[in-house]
Amino acid sequence: MDAMKDIIIGIDLGTTNSCAAIVEGDNIGIPQVKLIPYKGGEYTIPSVFAIDDKGNELIGYEAKRQWQLNPKNTIYGAKRLVGRSYRSDIVETWQKAVAYAVRPGKKNDVVIDIAKREFSMQEVSAKILNKIRDVASNHLKTPVKRAVVTVPAYFTDRQRQTVKDAGKLVDLEVVRIINEPTAASLAYGVGKRLNERVAVYDLGGGTFDVSIIEIRDRVFEVKATGGDIFLGGLDFDNAILGHVLKDFASKTAIDLSTDPVAMQRIKDLAERTKCDLSAREEVPFNIPFITMTSQGQPLNIEMKFSRKLLEQLTSHLVDRSLQIVAKVLVDSGLSTKDIDEVLLVGGQTRMPVVQDRLTKFFGKSPSKGVHPDEAVAIGAALYAHSLEDDTNLKLQLLDVIPMAIGLEKAGGSFHVVFPRNAAIPNAKQLTATTSYDQQTELAMRIFQGDNEAVTRNELLGEFTFSGIRSDRAGKVQVEVTFDVNVEGILTMHARDPASGKEMQTTVRVTSS
Ligand code: AMP
Repeated sequence: MDAMKDIIIGIDLGTTNSCAAIVEGDNIGIPQVKLIPYKGGEYTIPSVFAIDDKGNELIGYEAKRQWQLNPKNTIYGAKRLVGRSYRSDIVETWQKAVAYAVRPGKKNDVVIDIAKREFSMQEVSAKILNKIRDVASNHLKTPVKRAVVTVPAYFTDRQRQTVKDAGKLVDLEVVRIINEPTAASLAYGVGKRLNERVAVYDLGGGTFDVSIIEIRDRVFEVKATGGDIFLGGLDFDNAILGHVLKDFASKTAIDLSTDPVAMQRIKDLAERTKCDLSAREEVPFNIPFITMTSQGQPLNIEMKFSRKLLEQLTSHLVDRSLQIVAKVLVDSGLSTKDIDEVLLVGGQTRMPVVQDRLTKFFGKSPSKGVHPDEAVAIGAALYAHSLEDDTNLKLQLLDVIPMAIGLEKAGGSFHVVFPRNAAIPNAKQLTATTSYDQQTELAMRIFQGDNEAVTRNELLGEFTFSGIRSDRAGKVQVEVTFDVNVEGILTMHARDPASGKEMQTTVRVTSS
């Protein structure tokens, strides 16, 4: 095989930071993983894309550096919008929190306008993937064209498909999508001949995932997974931001929320303060010249933040994550005493109260066995390496879908085809019968989510099987097969068993 084609890296495409790794050789059967450094020795690249006032595209540190001065043309946290329909509540909430302009695209998807240019979420993800790939190609001194990319376990089919398509835009083959907590369990367990059950608690910049995984040497079997795509470090920062705005308004009667540059300065310091409070009990919160009075007098923010106050402002967020952990445990059919190790992944798990609450919940301290920022990229690289391995030492990942997949029934109810936590890959067949005379088309709307009211779930797409034999109502049957592959991506086939006519399509979102 062509040596260049062999290179396949692991990419953790994060909400706030991204990271890449590669396996460089084996040590008596144990793969040796290296994180790919960025210039200056950093291992992570901010997932930020911007256009400066000269029209230059900036990605990573360059984009983050100018963020305070150019908030309207700087896109961060884009992963929260990936594969979302514009109408979802989540988009509305997010729009209020960011300075860049979010609007609906042609397919009811999300489009961002910066510097008078329009970007789809695929394009924004593609820019970041391309940057990571360039850094890796430079470091490895060979072009990188293939990668295993991780996504939150709680991503829908549509979000996974968007990440795959983003790779295509920059000629990067996303060989496999795997779930972030599953990747972290690989970083923890590969090469250790373990036989244990782990809970992976992954609280990153934008998303929260929890998976219960059984490790049997090289087999990693996910028992249950859950999460919240809208729970992460950014929400902790926003809690500080909200407090600062309120405090400033009560002292000065000035609302800073309409001033994008002031907001960005507060957000930046909010994040730094939050991180500092993981190591200290109290820190000052000072920003000079944040605004001016109507008489032109400069005003400063001068406050103190204690760890206790931060914990009070964010306790509802930690509560929410633990409620999800409890639900996932029930789904897995296990109890806390069945869990051998609790793995912490994601920068936000450095907050001491998160660790304390988890210790109380599980009755044991979380493991220090994985690096919270690096485990996901390392796991992706290990899996990438295993995909190329043709010995019997291959890793076996048995994952699940995070939310039910099903179709809309007449009357608007949700007919579940795959329940949440159904193992993947998986296939199910349904037989549909024509409901009126001379019916030649069968249309189905496919949704993913756990709500009984179908439209409260995410629309994955519409599937139409045309060319049905013309006959009286009830006379023609169509066999519809739903296939979810190892990546959690759905494909559908339909077949008329009498005529043998077939049709296959990946479910695509249509405007609705
Ligand atoms: P990740 O997506 O895993 O890179 O996580 C990034 C999130 O972790 C951001 O919201 C950071 O502010 C947060 N974070 C990083 N370091 C710390 C820390 N020492 N204490 C609290 N949060 C942190």
